[in-house]
Amino acid sequence: MENFFVDEQGFYGNFGGAYVPEILYKCVHDLQDAYIPIIESDEFKKEYRALLRDYVGRPSPLYFAKRMSEKYGCRLFLKREDLNHTGAHKINNTIGQILMAKKMGKTRIIAETGAGQHGVATATVCALMNMQCEVFMGKTDVERQHTNVERMRMLGATVHPVTTGNMTLSDACSEAIRDWCCHPQDTFYIVGSTMGPHPYPDIVARMQSVISEELKWQLEEKVGRDHPDYLVACLGGGSNAAGTIYHYINDERVKIILAEAGGHGIDTDYTAATIHCGTEGIIHGARTLVMQTDDGQIKEAFTISAGLDYPGIGPMHANMAVKKRSTVLAINDDEAIYAGYELTRLEGIIPAIESAHAVAALKKVTFQPDDVVVLTVSGRGDKDVQTYLNNKDLAKEYGDF
Ligand SMILES: *Cc1c(COP(=O)(O)O)cnc(C)c1O
Repeated sequence: MENFFVDEQGFYGNFGGAYVPEILYKCVHDLQDAYIPIIESDEFKKEYRALLRDYVGRPSPLYFAKRMSEKYGCRLFLKREDLNHTGAHKINNTIGQILMAKKMGKTRIIAETGAGQHGVATATVCALMNMQCEVFMGKTDVERQHTNVERMRMLGATVHPVTTGNMTLSDACSEAIRDWCCHPQDTFYIVGSTMGPHPYPDIVARMQSVISEELKWQLEEKVGRDHPDYLVACLGGGSNAAGTIYHYINDERVKIILAEAGGHGIDTDYTAATIHCGTEGIIHGARTLVMQTDDGQIKEAFTISAGLDYPGIGPMHANMAVKKRSTVLAINDDEAIYAGYELTRLEGIIPAIESAHAVAALKKVTFQPDDVVVLTVSGRGDKDVQTYLNNKDLAKEYGDF
Protein backbone atom coordinates (compact mmCIF):
# COMPACT_ATOMS: atom_id res chain seq x y z
CA MET A 1 0.00 0.00 0.00
CA GLU A 2 1.04 3.55 -0.72
CA ASN A 3 2.62 5.63 2.03
CA PHE A 4 0.28 8.44 3.06
CA PHE A 5 2.68 10.30 5.34
CA VAL A 6 4.66 13.34 4.26
CA ASP A 7 7.73 12.76 2.07
CA GLU A 8 11.19 14.32 2.47
CA GLN A 9 10.23 17.31 0.32
CA GLY A 10 7.14 18.04 2.36
CA PHE A 11 4.64 16.57 -0.09
CA TYR A 12 1.72 14.16 0.15
CA GLY A 13 1.52 12.93 -3.43
CA ASN A 14 0.92 16.08 -5.49
CA PHE A 15 -0.15 18.10 -2.48
CA GLY A 16 1.63 20.06 0.24
CA GLY A 17 5.00 21.79 -0.06
CA ALA A 18 5.93 25.19 1.31
CA TYR A 19 4.94 28.10 -0.92
CA VAL A 20 5.90 31.07 1.24
CA PRO A 21 7.12 34.61 0.58
CA GLU A 22 10.90 34.92 0.47
CA ILE A 23 11.03 36.73 3.79
CA LEU A 24 9.73 33.58 5.52
CA TYR A 25 12.11 31.12 3.84
CA LYS A 26 14.54 31.14 6.73
CA CYS A 27 11.82 30.79 9.39
CA VAL A 28 10.13 27.93 7.60
CA HIS A 29 13.43 26.17 6.87
CA ASP A 30 14.57 26.55 10.48
CA LEU A 31 11.32 24.93 11.56
CA GLN A 32 11.69 22.14 8.98
CA ASP A 33 15.14 21.37 10.37
CA ALA A 34 14.16 21.65 14.02
CA TYR A 35 10.80 19.98 14.41
CA ILE A 36 11.60 16.27 14.27
CA PRO A 37 14.64 16.44 16.57
CA ILE A 38 12.56 18.43 19.07
CA ILE A 39 9.52 16.13 18.91
CA GLU A 40 11.73 13.06 19.27
CA SER A 41 13.80 14.43 22.16
CA ASP A 42 13.23 12.87 25.57
CA GLU A 43 12.87 16.27 27.18
CA PHE A 44 10.05 17.29 24.84
CA LYS A 45 8.27 13.96 25.14
CA LYS A 46 8.37 14.12 28.91
CA GLU A 47 6.99 17.66 29.17
CA TYR A 48 4.39 17.10 26.45
CA ARG A 49 3.13 13.82 27.95
CA ALA A 50 2.95 15.29 31.46
CA LEU A 51 0.90 18.27 30.28
CA LEU A 52 -1.44 16.09 28.22
CA ARG A 53 -2.11 13.98 31.27
CA ASP A 54 -2.29 16.53 34.08
CA TYR A 55 -3.41 19.67 32.26
CA VAL A 56 -5.52 18.47 29.33
CA GLY A 57 -6.90 15.42 31.17
CA ARG A 58 -5.74 12.67 28.81
CA PRO A 59 -6.29 9.92 27.94
CA SER A 60 -9.69 10.97 26.70
CA PRO A 61 -12.25 8.20 27.30
CA LEU A 62 -13.37 5.76 24.62
CA TYR A 63 -17.07 5.41 25.35
CA PHE A 64 -19.35 2.61 24.09
CA ALA A 65 -22.50 4.37 22.86
CA LYS A 66 -25.14 1.72 23.46
CA ARG A 67 -28.26 3.44 22.19
CA MET A 68 -26.57 4.84 19.10
CA SER A 69 -25.11 1.38 18.43
CA GLU A 70 -28.59 -0.13 18.45
CA LYS A 71 -29.82 2.58 16.13
CA TYR A 72 -27.02 2.12 13.57
CA GLY A 73 -26.59 -1.64 13.84
CA CYS A 74 -22.91 -1.67 14.79
CA ARG A 75 -20.67 -1.37 17.83
CA LEU A 76 -20.17 2.40 18.07
CA PHE A 77 -17.50 3.90 20.30
CA LEU A 78 -17.05 7.63 20.82
CA LYS A 79 -13.58 9.09 21.29
CA ARG A 80 -14.29 11.90 23.72
CA GLU A 81 -12.08 14.83 22.68
CA ASP A 82 -14.92 17.04 23.91
CA LEU A 83 -13.81 16.26 27.45
CA ASN A 84 -10.38 17.86 27.04
CA HIS A 85 -9.52 21.11 28.81
CA THR A 86 -10.95 23.99 26.69
CA GLY A 87 -13.48 21.60 25.17
CA ALA A 88 -11.94 20.27 21.96
CA HIS A 89 -8.97 18.47 20.43
CA LYS A 90 -7.20 21.74 19.54
CA ILE A 91 -5.27 21.87 22.82
CA ASN A 92 -3.33 18.66 21.99
CA ASN A 93 -1.66 20.65 19.24
CA THR A 94 -1.22 24.05 20.92
CA ILE A 95 0.56 22.45 23.90
CA GLY A 96 3.01 20.74 21.57
CA GLN A 97 3.65 23.81 19.44
CA ILE A 98 4.22 26.16 22.36
CA LEU A 99 6.79 23.77 23.81
CA MET A 100 8.42 23.78 20.38
CA ALA A 101 8.37 27.61 20.29
CA LYS A 102 10.12 27.74 23.65
CA LYS A 103 12.79 25.30 22.58
CA MET A 104 13.42 27.47 19.51
CA GLY A 105 13.82 30.57 21.67
CA LYS A 106 10.75 32.41 20.34
CA THR A 107 9.06 34.94 22.63
CA ARG A 108 5.93 36.00 20.77
CA ILE A 109 3.06 33.76 19.65
CA ILE A 110 0.59 34.43 16.86
CA ALA A 111 -2.38 32.35 15.75
CA GLU A 112 -5.38 32.48 13.43
CA THR A 113 -8.81 31.37 14.53
CA GLY A 114 -12.26 30.84 13.01
CA ALA A 115 -14.78 29.73 15.60
CA GLY A 116 -12.32 30.81 18.27
CA GLN A 117 -11.52 27.29 19.53
CA HIS A 118 -7.93 27.39 18.31
CA GLY A 119 -7.59 30.97 19.55
CA VAL A 120 -8.77 29.94 23.01
CA ALA A 121 -6.48 26.88 23.05
CA THR A 122 -3.53 29.08 22.03
CA ALA A 123 -4.35 31.85 24.53
CA THR A 124 -4.62 29.15 27.20
CA VAL A 125 -1.15 27.70 26.63
CA CYS A 126 0.31 31.22 26.34
CA ALA A 127 -1.06 32.02 29.79
CA LEU A 128 0.36 28.73 31.02
CA MET A 129 3.81 29.46 29.56
CA ASN A 130 3.78 33.22 30.13
CA MET A 131 4.13 34.14 26.45
CA GLN A 132 2.77 37.15 24.54
CA CYS A 133 -0.20 36.08 22.40
CA GLU A 134 -1.79 37.78 19.39
CA VAL A 135 -4.78 36.16 17.72
CA PHE A 136 -6.11 37.08 14.27
CA MET A 137 -9.82 36.55 13.78
CA GLY A 138 -12.17 37.69 11.00
CA LYS A 139 -14.47 40.49 12.12
CA THR A 140 -17.51 38.40 11.14
CA ASP A 141 -16.33 35.61 13.45
CA VAL A 142 -15.49 38.09 16.24
CA GLU A 143 -19.14 39.06 16.17
CA ARG A 144 -20.67 35.58 15.86
CA GLN A 145 -18.33 33.85 18.36
CA HIS A 146 -18.30 36.51 21.02
CA THR A 147 -17.88 34.27 24.08
CA ASN A 148 -14.66 32.82 22.70
CA VAL A 149 -13.35 36.36 22.08
CA GLU A 150 -14.04 37.21 25.72
CA ARG A 151 -12.32 34.00 26.84
CA MET A 152 -9.20 34.87 24.82
CA ARG A 153 -9.12 38.41 26.26
CA MET A 154 -9.57 37.10 29.78
CA LEU A 155 -6.63 34.75 29.18
CA GLY A 156 -4.48 37.76 28.27
CA ALA A 157 -4.40 37.49 24.46
CA THR A 158 -4.82 40.43 22.10
CA VAL A 159 -7.53 39.68 19.53
CA HIS A 160 -7.12 41.48 16.19
CA PRO A 161 -10.38 41.65 14.20
CA VAL A 162 -9.51 41.19 10.50
CA THR A 163 -11.49 43.35 8.09
CA THR A 164 -10.14 42.18 4.73
CA GLY A 165 -11.98 39.83 2.36
CA ASN A 166 -14.98 38.06 3.79
CA MET A 167 -13.67 38.66 7.31
CA THR A 168 -13.61 34.96 8.23
CA LEU A 169 -11.03 32.22 8.87
CA SER A 170 -9.30 32.35 5.51
CA ASP A 171 -8.67 36.09 5.90
CA ALA A 172 -7.46 35.57 9.46
CA CYS A 173 -4.87 33.06 8.15
CA SER A 174 -3.65 35.55 5.54
CA GLU A 175 -3.33 38.25 8.19
CA ALA A 176 -1.40 35.95 10.55
CA ILE A 177 1.04 35.14 7.72
CA ARG A 178 1.42 38.88 7.04
CA ASP A 179 2.24 39.51 10.71
CA TRP A 180 4.72 36.64 10.65
CA CYS A 181 6.49 38.25 7.67
CA CYS A 182 6.97 41.42 9.78
CA HIS A 183 8.38 39.58 12.82
CA PRO A 184 10.12 36.44 11.53
CA GLN A 185 12.83 36.55 14.22
CA ASP A 186 11.00 36.47 17.53
CA THR A 187 7.58 35.10 16.49
CA PHE A 188 6.28 31.53 16.40
CA TYR A 189 3.12 31.00 14.39
CA ILE A 190 0.97 28.30 16.04
CA VAL A 191 -1.09 26.89 13.17
CA GLY A 192 -4.39 25.34 14.26
CA SER A 193 -4.94 22.58 11.71
CA THR A 194 -3.14 20.27 9.28
CA MET A 195 -2.71 23.10 6.79
CA GLY A 196 -0.17 25.77 5.91
CA PRO A 197 3.34 25.31 4.53
CA HIS A 198 5.41 22.19 5.29
CA PRO A 199 6.19 21.25 8.06
CA TYR A 200 2.95 22.48 9.68
CA PRO A 201 0.60 19.75 8.36
CA ASP A 202 3.03 17.12 9.66
CA ILE A 203 3.59 18.88 12.99
CA VAL A 204 -0.13 19.17 13.66
CA ALA A 205 -0.83 15.58 12.58
CA ARG A 206 1.89 14.31 14.92
CA MET A 207 0.56 16.37 17.83
CA GLN A 208 -2.96 15.05 17.27
CA SER A 209 -1.76 11.48 16.73
CA VAL A 210 -2.09 10.91 20.47
CA ILE A 211 -5.77 10.27 19.67
CA SER A 212 -5.13 7.11 17.63
CA GLU A 213 -2.23 6.09 19.85
CA GLU A 214 -4.72 5.86 22.72
CA LEU A 215 -7.30 4.14 20.51
CA LYS A 216 -4.92 1.21 20.01
CA TRP A 217 -4.83 0.18 23.66
CA GLN A 218 -8.34 1.34 24.44
CA LEU A 219 -9.74 -0.89 21.67
CA GLU A 220 -7.53 -3.78 22.75
CA GLU A 221 -9.03 -3.42 26.21
CA LYS A 222 -12.64 -3.04 25.07
CA VAL A 223 -12.98 -5.28 22.01
CA GLY A 224 -9.87 -7.46 22.18
CA ARG A 225 -8.15 -6.13 19.05
CA ASP A 226 -6.24 -2.92 18.53
CA HIS A 227 -8.00 -1.75 15.37
CA PRO A 228 -11.56 -0.79 14.46
CA ASP A 229 -13.38 -1.57 11.21
CA TYR A 230 -14.29 2.06 10.68
CA LEU A 231 -12.97 5.42 11.80
CA VAL A 232 -15.27 8.43 11.46
CA ALA A 233 -14.35 12.10 11.94
CA CYS A 234 -15.24 15.55 10.67
CA LEU A 235 -13.00 17.48 8.32
CA GLY A 236 -12.24 21.19 8.57
CA GLY A 237 -8.54 21.69 7.90
CA GLY A 238 -8.16 18.07 8.95
CA SER A 239 -6.47 17.93 12.35
CA ASN A 240 -8.89 15.86 14.45
CA ALA A 241 -9.29 13.52 11.50
CA ALA A 242 -5.51 13.24 11.08
CA GLY A 243 -5.12 12.41 14.77
CA THR A 244 -7.90 9.84 14.63
CA ILE A 245 -6.46 7.95 11.66
CA TYR A 246 -2.72 8.52 12.16
CA HIS A 247 -1.73 5.09 13.45
CA TYR A 248 -4.10 3.32 11.05
CA ILE A 249 -3.31 5.16 7.82
CA ASN A 250 -1.41 2.28 6.27
CA ASP A 251 -3.67 -0.41 7.78
CA GLU A 252 -6.06 -1.59 5.06
CA ARG A 253 -8.35 -3.33 7.53
CA VAL A 254 -9.50 0.07 8.73
CA LYS A 255 -11.96 2.03 6.59
CA ILE A 256 -11.85 5.80 6.93
CA ILE A 257 -15.02 7.90 6.63
CA LEU A 258 -14.66 11.68 6.83
CA ALA A 259 -17.38 14.31 6.89
CA GLU A 260 -16.86 17.70 5.30
CA ALA A 261 -19.31 20.57 5.55
CA GLY A 262 -21.80 20.63 2.69
CA GLY A 263 -23.46 23.84 3.94
CA HIS A 264 -26.65 24.24 1.91
CA GLY A 265 -25.45 21.53 -0.50
CA ILE A 266 -22.54 20.85 -2.85
CA ASP A 267 -24.58 21.93 -5.86
CA THR A 268 -25.12 25.41 -4.38
CA ASP A 269 -22.74 28.36 -3.84
CA TYR A 270 -23.17 27.95 -0.09
CA THR A 271 -20.82 25.11 0.77
CA ALA A 272 -17.48 24.38 2.44
CA ALA A 273 -17.09 20.91 0.86
CA THR A 274 -13.59 21.45 -0.52
CA ILE A 275 -12.92 17.85 -1.48
CA HIS A 276 -16.15 17.66 -3.47
CA CYS A 277 -16.00 21.13 -5.00
CA GLY A 278 -12.34 22.16 -4.94
CA THR A 279 -9.67 22.11 -7.63
CA GLU A 280 -5.88 22.11 -7.31
CA GLY A 281 -4.42 25.39 -6.20
CA ILE A 282 -2.31 27.05 -3.52
CA ILE A 283 -3.70 28.38 -0.29
CA HIS A 284 -1.82 29.60 2.78
CA GLY A 285 1.47 28.13 1.67
CA ALA A 286 0.35 24.67 0.53
CA ARG A 287 -0.71 23.09 -2.76
CA THR A 288 -4.02 21.42 -2.13
CA LEU A 289 -7.65 21.34 -3.19
CA VAL A 290 -9.15 24.81 -2.98
CA MET A 291 -12.56 26.25 -3.71
CA GLN A 292 -11.76 28.87 -6.32
CA THR A 293 -13.18 30.68 -9.31
CA ASP A 294 -11.99 29.84 -12.84
CA ASP A 295 -9.42 32.65 -12.62
CA GLY A 296 -8.03 31.43 -9.30
CA GLN A 297 -9.78 33.73 -6.83
CA ILE A 298 -10.47 31.92 -3.58
CA LYS A 299 -14.20 31.52 -2.99
CA GLU A 300 -15.88 32.10 0.33
CA ALA A 301 -16.75 28.91 2.18
CA PHE A 302 -20.19 28.58 3.71
CA THR A 303 -21.40 26.32 6.53
CA ILE A 304 -23.34 26.72 9.75
CA SER A 305 -20.20 25.48 11.49
CA ALA A 306 -17.55 28.19 11.97
CA GLY A 307 -14.89 25.54 12.67
CA LEU A 308 -15.32 23.92 9.23
CA ASP A 309 -15.64 27.22 7.35
CA TYR A 310 -12.46 27.01 5.27
CA PRO A 311 -12.09 27.01 1.45
CA GLY A 312 -9.01 24.70 1.58
CA ILE A 313 -8.18 21.31 3.09
CA GLY A 314 -5.02 19.85 4.59
CA PRO A 315 -2.78 18.37 1.85
CA MET A 316 -2.67 14.99 3.58
CA HIS A 317 -6.44 14.67 3.24
CA ALA A 318 -6.49 15.92 -0.35
CA ASN A 319 -4.06 13.13 -1.22
CA MET A 320 -5.89 10.41 0.72
CA ALA A 321 -9.20 11.40 -0.85
CA VAL A 322 -7.97 11.45 -4.46
CA LYS A 323 -6.23 8.09 -3.91
CA LYS A 324 -9.46 6.74 -2.35
CA ARG A 325 -7.83 5.82 0.95
CA SER A 326 -10.58 7.82 2.64
CA THR A 327 -14.24 8.22 1.76
CA VAL A 328 -15.30 11.82 2.15
CA LEU A 329 -19.01 12.60 2.55
CA ALA A 330 -20.53 16.07 2.36
CA ILE A 331 -22.93 16.68 5.24
CA ASN A 332 -25.35 19.57 4.93
CA ASP A 333 -26.23 22.00 7.72
CA ASP A 334 -29.66 20.47 8.37
CA GLU A 335 -28.25 16.93 8.57
CA ALA A 336 -25.61 18.08 11.07
CA ILE A 337 -28.15 19.88 13.26
CA TYR A 338 -30.38 16.81 13.33
CA ALA A 339 -27.44 14.54 14.18
CA GLY A 340 -26.44 16.90 16.99
CA TYR A 341 -29.89 16.53 18.52
CA GLU A 342 -29.78 12.77 18.02
CA LEU A 343 -26.52 12.35 19.95
CA THR A 344 -27.84 14.69 22.62
CA ARG A 345 -31.07 12.75 23.12
CA LEU A 346 -29.73 9.21 22.73
CA GLU A 347 -26.49 9.54 24.70
CA GLY A 348 -26.74 12.79 26.67
CA ILE A 349 -23.79 14.31 24.83
CA ILE A 350 -24.18 17.71 23.14
CA PRO A 351 -21.53 17.70 20.41
CA ALA A 352 -19.90 20.71 18.75
CA ILE A 353 -21.71 21.40 15.50
CA GLU A 354 -18.46 20.41 13.73
CA SER A 355 -18.51 16.98 15.39
CA ALA A 356 -22.21 16.63 14.57
CA HIS A 357 -21.17 16.42 10.90
CA ALA A 358 -19.30 13.20 11.74
CA VAL A 359 -22.34 11.84 13.57
CA ALA A 360 -24.52 12.54 10.52
CA ALA A 361 -22.17 10.43 8.38
CA LEU A 362 -23.31 7.28 10.26
CA LYS A 363 -26.61 7.39 8.36
CA LYS A 364 -24.82 7.12 5.03
CA VAL A 365 -22.84 3.95 5.72
CA THR A 366 -24.19 0.39 5.90
CA PHE A 367 -22.62 -1.44 8.82
CA GLN A 368 -22.53 -5.11 9.84
CA PRO A 369 -23.65 -5.81 13.43
CA ASP A 370 -20.13 -6.85 14.48
CA ASP A 371 -18.40 -3.81 12.98
CA VAL A 372 -16.42 -1.78 15.47
CA VAL A 373 -16.87 1.89 14.60
CA VAL A 374 -14.94 4.67 16.33
CA LEU A 375 -16.25 8.21 15.91
CA THR A 376 -14.27 11.16 17.23
CA VAL A 377 -16.34 13.77 19.04
CA SER A 378 -13.92 16.62 18.34
CA GLY A 379 -15.51 19.12 20.71
CA ARG A 380 -18.35 19.91 23.04
CA GLY A 381 -21.39 21.83 21.92
CA ASP A 382 -21.75 24.49 24.61
CA LYS A 383 -20.69 27.16 22.11
CA ASP A 384 -23.41 25.97 19.69
CA VAL A 385 -26.46 25.71 21.93
CA GLN A 386 -28.01 28.86 20.44
CA THR A 387 -27.44 27.57 16.89
CA TYR A 388 -29.11 24.26 17.76
CA LEU A 389 -32.07 25.99 19.41
CA ASN A 390 -32.51 28.38 16.48
CA ASN A 391 -32.94 25.29 14.31
CA LYS A 392 -35.00 23.09 16.63
CA ASP A 393 -37.70 22.73 13.96
CA LEU A 394 -35.30 20.24 12.33
CA ALA A 395 -35.58 17.96 15.38
CA LYS A 396 -39.37 17.86 15.76
CA GLU A 397 -39.44 14.16 16.51
CA TYR A 398 -37.85 14.92 19.88
CA GLY A 399 -40.97 16.83 20.86
CA ASP A 400 -41.77 20.46 21.52
CA PHE A 401 -39.08 22.08 23.67
C1 LIG B 1 -11.57 23.44 14.82
C2 LIG B 1 -12.51 22.37 15.02
C3 LIG B 1 -12.76 21.39 14.03
C4 LIG B 1 -12.19 21.44 12.66
O1 LIG B 1 -10.81 21.45 12.57
P1 LIG B 1 -9.96 20.18 12.16
O2 LIG B 1 -8.58 20.73 12.06
O3 LIG B 1 -10.49 19.69 10.87
O4 LIG B 1 -10.09 19.17 13.23
C5 LIG B 1 -13.62 20.35 14.34
N1 LIG B 1 -14.22 20.27 15.53
C6 LIG B 1 -14.01 21.19 16.50
C7 LIG B 1 -14.73 21.02 17.81
C8 LIG B 1 -13.15 22.26 16.29
O5 LIG B 1 -12.95 23.15 17.25
